[in-house]
Amino acid sequence: MSNRNVLISGASIAGPALAFWLKRYGFTPTIVEKSPTLREGGQAIDVLGTATEVVRRMGLLDRVHEMSTGKRGTSYVDATGRTRASISSETFNGVGANGDTEIQRGDLARVLYEATSEDVEYLFGDSITALVQDEEGVRVSFEHAQPRTFDLVIGADGVHSHTRTLVFGPESQFARHMGYYICIYTIPNFLDLDHWELDYNTPDKIAGAYSARENTRAKAIFAWASDPIDYDYRDIEQQKKIVADTFAGLGWQVPQLLAHLDPAPDFYFDAMAQIRMDSWHKGRIALVGDAGYCASPLSGQGADLSLVGAYTLAGELAAAAGDHSIAFARYEQRMRPMVDACQKFAEGVGGWYAPASKAMIRFRDLNVRLLPYLPWRGLIGGAPQKVARTISAGDYADLERASGR
Ligand SMILES: Cc1cc2nc3c(=O)[nH]c(=O)nc-3n(C[C@H](O)[C@H](O)[C@H](O)COP(=O)(O)OP(=O)(O)OC[C@H]3O[C@@H](n4cnc5c(N)ncnc54)[C@H](O)[C@@H]3O)c2cc1C
Repeated sequence: MSNRNVLISGASIAGPALAFWLKRYGFTPTIVEKSPTLREGGQAIDVLGTATEVVRRMGLLDRVHEMSTGKRGTSYVDATGRTRASISSETFNGVGANGDTEIQRGDLARVLYEATSEDVEYLFGDSITALVQDEEGVRVSFEHAQPRTFDLVIGADGVHSHTRTLVFGPESQFARHMGYYICIYTIPNFLDLDHWELDYNTPDKIAGAYSARENTRAKAIFAWASDPIDYDYRDIEQQKKIVADTFAGLGWQVPQLLAHLDPAPDFYFDAMAQIRMDSWHKGRIALVGDAGYCASPLSGQGADLSLVGAYTLAGELAAAAGDHSIAFARYEQRMRPMVDACQKFAEGVGGWYAPASKAMIRFRDLNVRLLPYLPWRGLIGGAPQKVARTISAGDYADLERASGR
C-alpha cells in the first residue's frame, strides 16, 4: 500500500466518513477542522438509499436510528395559523417524509466523529494555508501547526471549500446560485410541536418551525428566493439583519420566530448553491462531498452524497493499493451519475417549496391535499429514495477482510 498518510480538511460529514473508511483499510488519516470544536447546527437531513447501506456497513445504522428526529409530518398553515394542507409518512404509505431516516446534521457529524476520534488525529481550530505538491507528496502549511508533508490531501471542507480555492481556483468558477437563501437556528419549542413541522408561505418565501430533540426544543427555518446578495460571510449580525428585514411584517408566528434570532446559539445562513466541476482531483489532491459536488439544500441529498462519496473514494484508494492516479479517476467515474442525478433533482424543488405567487401556493396546497388519493403517490414519495440509489455501494468487502476486519 502506498500513499498512506492522508490529510483531510473538514470535520462535518464527508471528512470523518472518509477518515473512518481510510483507517479501516490501513491508511493513516489526519483531519484538520477550522472550527475550534465540532460544529453544531444545521437542518435535519435525510440518510437515504445507498447512504443507508454505507452507514450500515460502518456499523452505525442503529446509532443513527436512535438519534433520528422521528418527525411524522408537516402542515402548511396560513397567516392566522389555520392548517391548509398536511403531509405525513402515511400520505405515501410509509415511504418518504420518514422520520426514521432523518437526523440533525450536527448529530450525524457527532456520530461520525465519535466513531473515529480514538483512531484518527484531529486538528481543531486550524486551517490549511498553502499546498505544494510534487512527485513525492504534498507539503502543507497551516495557520497554526508546523508545516507537514502528506502523501495525499482531500478537501472535505464544504460548499465554500478553501482546499478547492487553493488548488482549483476561485469559488465563482464553480458555484451555481440556485436562486434561494436559507437560514436555520435552534429555538425553544414554544409552539409545542410534537415531532411535527409547521410551514407558512408567502410568495417566494417560507418560514417554518419543527420540533427537535424529542420535542425539547425546535428549529426555526427561513428560505426565500433572491438574486445573489452581497454580504460578508464572517458578519453574523449582518446576516441576521438580512433575515429579519426579509421576513419583517409577515403573519403567523414569524415575529415570534424572529425574536429568537439574536440569542440563537447555532445560526446558519447561506445561499443555496451547487458546485459543478469537470474534475474533482488534481495530482495528489481531491475533493469529496459539498466541496466537489454540492447539490444544494434543495436536493435533500447533501449527506447522502458525502457518505457515498467518502465510502467510494476510500474504497477506490484501497483497491488501487493507494495509487491515487488510478483511484481518483475511478472514484470520479463511479460517483458522477449520482452527483448528476442529485443536482438535477434539486432543480425543480424550489417552486414547490417556496411557490412564487399566492395562486401557486394555493395550487401547491391543493396538490398536497389530493396526494393521499393519487394512485401514484408512492412514486412521488419515493422519488428522493430513487435518486439516492442512483449508484449501488461498491463492493470493497475483500479489502476490509484483507485489512484484518
Ligand atoms: C454548521 C453547518 C450547518 C449546516 N446547515 C445546513 C442546513 O441547514 N441545510 C443544508 O442543506 N445543509 C447544511 N449544511 C451543509 C451540509 O452539512 C452538507 O450539505 C452535507 O452534509 C455535506 O457535508 P460536507 O461534509 O461535504 O460539508 P459541510 O457539512 O459543509 O462541512 C464542511 C466542514 O469543513 C469545515 N471547514 C470549512 N472551511 C475549512 C477550512 N478552511 N479548514 C478546515 N475546515 C474547514 C467546516 O467547518 C465544516 O465542518 C450545514 C453545514 C454546516 C457545517
